[in-house]
Amino acid sequence: MVKICCIGAGYVGGPTMAIIALKCPAVEVVVVDISVARITAWNSEQLPIYEPGLDDVVKECRGRNLFFSTDVERHVAEADIIFVSVNTPTKTRGLGAGKAADLTYWESAARMIADVAKSDKIVVEKSTVPVKTAEAIEKILTHNSKGINFQILSNPEFLAEGTAIQDLLKPDRVLIGGRETPEGRAAVEALKAVYAQWVPVERIITTNLWSAELSKLAANAFLAQRISSVNAISALCEATGADVTEVAYAVGRDSRIGPKFLNASVGFGGSCFQKDILNLVYICECNGLPEVATYWKQVIKINDYQKSRFVNRVVSSMFNTVSGKKVAVLGFAFKKDTGDTRETPAIDVCKGLLGDKAAISIYDPQVTEDQIQRDLTMNKFDWDHPIHLQPMSPTAVKQVSVVWDAYEATRGAHAVCVLTEWDEFRALDFQRIYNQMQKPAFIFDGRNVLDADLLRRIGFIVYSIGKALDP
Ligand code: NAD
Repeated sequence: MVKICCIGAGYVGGPTMAIIALKCPAVEVVVVDISVARITAWNSEQLPIYEPGLDDVVKECRGRNLFFSTDVERHVAEADIIFVSVNTPTKTRGLGAGKAADLTYWESAARMIADVAKSDKIVVEKSTVPVKTAEAIEKILTHNSKGINFQILSNPEFLAEGTAIQDLLKPDRVLIGGRETPEGRAAVEALKAVYAQWVPVERIITTNLWSAELSKLAANAFLAQRISSVNAISALCEATGADVTEVAYAVGRDSRIGPKFLNASVGFGGSCFQKDILNLVYICECNGLPEVATYWKQVIKINDYQKSRFVNRVVSSMFNTVSGKKVAVLGFAFKKDTGDTRETPAIDVCKGLLGDKAAISIYDPQVTEDQIQRDLTMNKFDWDHPIHLQPMSPTAVKQVSVVWDAYEATRGAHAVCVLTEWDEFRALDFQRIYNQMQKPAFIFDGRNVLDADLLRRIGFIVYSIGKALDP
């Protein structure tokens, strides 16, 4: 029986291994993590992450061929294939701070593998890492290897949170990069055999190691760039009377461009897009390519601009101040169908409103009060983002309440800001909401998910991204 161990039981490690266990009943899969809390949760009824469909898969496989454990060293020593899916955040201090990937977790995982391994291993980069990371990992592994053969593969993950299970079951592609040596090719084939259990072989792409590592950074940069492109156009739409939905539809009908990922919004978030672009910027700078670095930096600058534009629109529409006014925030997660708030635009929008002394009442179906308080008080590294404010003062924290119902959040409010596109927000009774709000009642739809005409008929003053303002 092939044994797989995955180091890191997070948003990627957990769901990815659950699907491998589901589709490869003859493979034993153990997901390990240094976080006792996370592993305890994976072994309980209340999984540590919310992802549609995940509960059912875990229930089916857990205890059969899927296990979660904190006994990292034992399971690493026993495994044939080791996936490393640890976090690779942006460095906050030292060389490359604010841009470069922090590979501390990766390095400690690699050193541990080198220490405990007693047989040949295939080590798979599942985390998103800078191009050429495999070279560094090889140094750590081979210098300690006691004659053991380590093959490093790059197998970046392309799942999107909120649709992770579907993305894993029917991936657009699986990418495997390896060394172009007989041992490297054999390792690629071994991993390919795992995925081939459910992924059509024509969807499994094999490349050299550096292409695979760079493809992941490039893919995230392209996706984020599309969002910043449509958001940049949304600003122009508001200035000229064009409608961004109509423009995006017309543009997306060109088969060379395509219709996906062209929704204007308050901005992108999540743990990956910004971090991976910053990483790309840093790599470009290190490779003497400042113009290329500047090009990608602009994607983040437009994203920050979109968030500050949104805050400014709220404040200016409400007679140039939100001081002492209640603003209901609907949605705090960075997108629907996840409870993940990492880099969510809601953080910057809330901080902006709190900076003008608004009282905000937040409702999100999957995000807890602890998460929100932590996100709003966290000190964020600031390279040259004007929107990234300092941590909130304790007084500002008191201006925030977190409630468990959209009607509660909007009671007595002067304005509503929709910051996540949760389906349930479309189905709210807006007449009821209007009746209980201060007048004039404002709605700022940061995701363009509400029926603006209906809202206007009820009596709201409505702002949607990239659309004509209320007459
Ligand atoms: P995460 O923070 O949710 O999970 C990482 C886990 O690794 C944590 O539970 C942490 O405790 C554990 N860990 C760290 N060091 C460890 C060690 N030495 N031994 C054992 N466990 C250790 O992160 P994530 O969102 O799952 O992302 C993981 C990687 O995948 C990142 O590089 C990310 O960029 C990439 N990625 C993320 C997504 C996504 O949507 N979240 C998608 C594709 C790729």
